[in-house]
Amino acid sequence: MVRVLIEEMEAYAKENKIPIMLPDGIEFLENYIRKNKIKKILELGTAIGYSAIRMASISKDIQIITIERDQERYQKAIENIKKAGMQNQIQVLNQDIMDFNTEEKFDLIFIDAAKSQYIKYFEKFSFNLIKDGVIISDNLNFHGYTKQETRIESKNLRQMVGKIKNYIEFLKENKEFKTTFIELGDGIGISEKL
Ligand code: SAH
Ligand code: MG
Repeated sequence: MVRVLIEEMEAYAKENKIPIMLPDGIEFLENYIRKNKIKKILELGTAIGYSAIRMASISKDIQIITIERDQERYQKAIENIKKAGMQNQIQVLNQDIMDFNTEEKFDLIFIDAAKSQYIKYFEKFSFNLIKDGVIISDNLNFHGYTKQETRIESKNLRQMVGKIKNYIEFLKENKEFKTTFIELGDGIGISEKL
C-alpha cells in the first residue's frame, strides 16, 4: 500500500521538479536509522513528505517533526501522509525553519532545506540533539558542482556552491562532531556528536 504511494510520489516529484532524495541516498538513510535504532527525528525541508514517509515506514515507534514553508508542498505532504495513514507518526509544520523553536530533543536531525542556510540550521538545532545524536545533511555535492574544478559561470550558482563548500569546511573543523562524508545520492554528511 505505502509502496504504491511512494512510487506515485517519485513520479510526482519528477514531473514537478521537486528535489526529493535520490534512491541510493534515501536507502542509506533508512539503513542508518534502522541500524542505530533512531526513534525521534527532526526533518528540515519536507517538500511533499517523501523522505518523511520513507523514514516513518521503518518502524511504528518512529516519530518525526518536519518543517516546510512552501504552502503548496506543505498541502501535498499533508495529503500524502494521510494517504499513508501516518498522521500519528509525522507532524508537518508550515513555517520557516528559523522561526521554529523547541526544547525537545531528537536522535536525528536531517537537514535538507535551503542549501545556503546549512551552517545556521546546524548551529540553531545542535542544542536539540540527544547526547549521542546525529545530524545528517543532504546535497553536499550539489549536483556535482562542489567537486567541479573549472570556474562556474553563473554568479548565483557560484555563490551557492561556495556556501556549501563553506559548510563542508565547517563540518570538518567542528570539534564537537565527527563527520563522515558519504558519496551516495547527492552527497550526504553524517555528523555524530562526540
Ligand atoms: N526532504 C525532502 C526534500 C526537501 S526539498 C525529501 O527528500 O523528500 C527542500 C525543501 O525545503 C523545499 O520544499 C523548500 O521549500 C524547503 N525549504 C527551504 N528553505 C526552507 C525554510 N527556510 N523553511 C522551511 N522550508 C524550507
Ligand atoms: Mg535533498
